[in-house]
Amino acid sequence: MTVFAIVDCNNFYVSCERVFNPALNGKPVIVLSNNDGCAVARSNEVKKLGIGMGSPVFKQKDTIEKHGIHVFSSNYALYGDMSRRVVQVLSEFSQDLEVYSIDESFLDISRVRPDRRTAFGRTLMATVKKFTGIPVSVGMARTKTLSKIAVRLAKKSAKADGVLDLTDPRHHDRALELTPVDDVWGVGWRYAKFLKVYGIANARQLRDADRTFIRKKMGVNGTRLIDELKGVSCYPLDRNPSQKKNITVSRSFGHAVTNLDGLREAVTSYAARGAEKLRREKLTAGLVTVFIMTDRFKPESFYYNTKTLRLAAPTSNSPEIIGAALAGLAEILRPDSLYKKAGIYLTELGPASMVQTVLFDPVDRERSARLMASLDAINTAMGKNTLTYASAGLSPSRPWHGMFNHRSPAWTTRWDQLPRVK
Ligand SMILES: [Mg+2]
Repeated sequence: MTVFAIVDCNNFYVSCERVFNPALNGKPVIVLSNNDGCAVARSNEVKKLGIGMGSPVFKQKDTIEKHGIHVFSSNYALYGDMSRRVVQVLSEFSQDLEVYSIDESFLDISRVRPDRRTAFGRTLMATVKKFTGIPVSVGMARTKTLSKIAVRLAKKSAKADGVLDLTDPRHHDRALELTPVDDVWGVGWRYAKFLKVYGIANARQLRDADRTFIRKKMGVNGTRLIDELKGVSCYPLDRNPSQKKNITVSRSFGHAVTNLDGLREAVTSYAARGAEKLRREKLTAGLVTVFIMTDRFKPESFYYNTKTLRLAAPTSNSPEIIGAALAGLAEILRPDSLYKKAGIYLTELGPASMVQTVLFDPVDRERSARLMASLDAINTAMGKNTLTYASAGLSPSRPWHGMFNHRSPAWTTRWDQLPRVK
């Protein structure tokens, strides 16, 4: 029988900030969402102060000042790179690994001897900490859902101290009782609200609920949930998470953008970024969609529009994708509007090797592929946006950039921001 381990990074974004700024250890820290809107990661000290996940930061000004909370804008270049390093360490322990999210991975640890599991968990924890500086917790069980319950308790229980082996069914009743139904993997807040109305408030009550009733109300995913809570695995390890179905690049603007030039610059840079992502994944796109929207909190003047264009042939070539996005933008742009957000979607993705060439193709594909490869190589070596497209704008201050007033440096991914040892 399979045994799953989930390795979950503790307060991941906060921990990433602390790795490069150890003075923050033991201090209250929050990391904000894009545009510095609300808290998306909180240190334990902040959790104790009662600042909730997703809590708007402007409502917390007094608390932040009073307790000297350190506030950071999100720094996804740093978090993405730290995440990759954690996965690299984990893959040394088990080749059977599923990267589930930026801060969580599932491992198949069936081969670890039952009496060695907790020690194995401790070794994982210590090794990840030693090589990346990131603290993690480990939950182990016969199903993914139970392992998620285990890791949650591992963090909360002083006795578990970060590692909990929940493979023995004798411990299930108690563990499941301690888990509110809202915290069961895959139960969204809507279902949680509904289940509580029927007296199902914790995971044990959900496991023991009437199967027909759950099937009727939650469908097949509901009965799978019951099985998983009983220790019958329904969700195997996904070793190659399915190929990306689409790529989205969009941002809310720090300040509303009115002029055509500003929007063109923003859309150019998003399209260029999307094309870069395609090339990194060795994919091409068949369709480019561009969208723009005004402030959704001003319904009287709200405007949203989108335009999809088909590319001459599936491609990952930046100029072609930028060209299509700008052509789409010209069709939907309405002057005299205050735009708050714009973005692009790339869809109909396929592997780069499968592209059928078009007769009378206006683009010399081999030459443009070489050009794109040099562009990516330079930007990788010299830092993001060393080479950009002129239509992305050259002025250093770009009003359409998001607001990141408290962002830490990209310590690990930009040469010009490497930490210095004094
Ligand atoms: Mg986490």
